[in-house]
Amino acid sequence: MKKACSFCEKGFLERKTIKETYTYKGYSIEIVQPGEFCHFCGEGILNGADIKATEKQILAFQAKIDGLLTSSEIIKVRQKLKLSLKQAAEICGDEPNRFSRYECGEAIPRRSTSNFGVGHRFVNQTRANTQVRPYSFCAGFCRGRPACLPSQVTKR
Ligand SMILES: [Zn+2]
Repeated sequence: MKKACSFCEKGFLERKTIKETYTYKGYSIEIVQPGEFCHFCGEGILNGADIKATEKQILAFQAKIDGLLTSSEIIKVRQKLKLSLKQAAEICGDEPNRFSRYECGEAIPRRSTSNFGVGHRFVNQTRANTQVRPYSFCAGFCRGRPACLPSQVTKR
């Protein structure tokens, strides 16, 4: 049975995945969002699993923009420093559970935690506005190149 759309009361909801542009602080990323969407007005309802499906991608994107470590970066840095999860958490003043959530991509690390790979810090000189802003600890993937944003990221 088709569920009527409660937003427009004209269409019905169907389960599908849509391509959606997610924007954060002027940067955009395209995400593939599952959910129930109205064929008429395009409004959608997301359940817990739908939100979970894109949560990690969105958090990683926000971390990049804010110059914080993403989950894969924080793992790289910790492994490079040969620390256990417990040791790394202790150094950063985080609970091991919380630290583990950073590594799983379920939470964005605090600035102080992101700074624990100090040796990998570099500053990104943005050409657009020539402001110098501290950028991410990229765990050396970028080899010091100024922009190590994922390729799908575009400045508005
Ligand atoms: Zn509708």
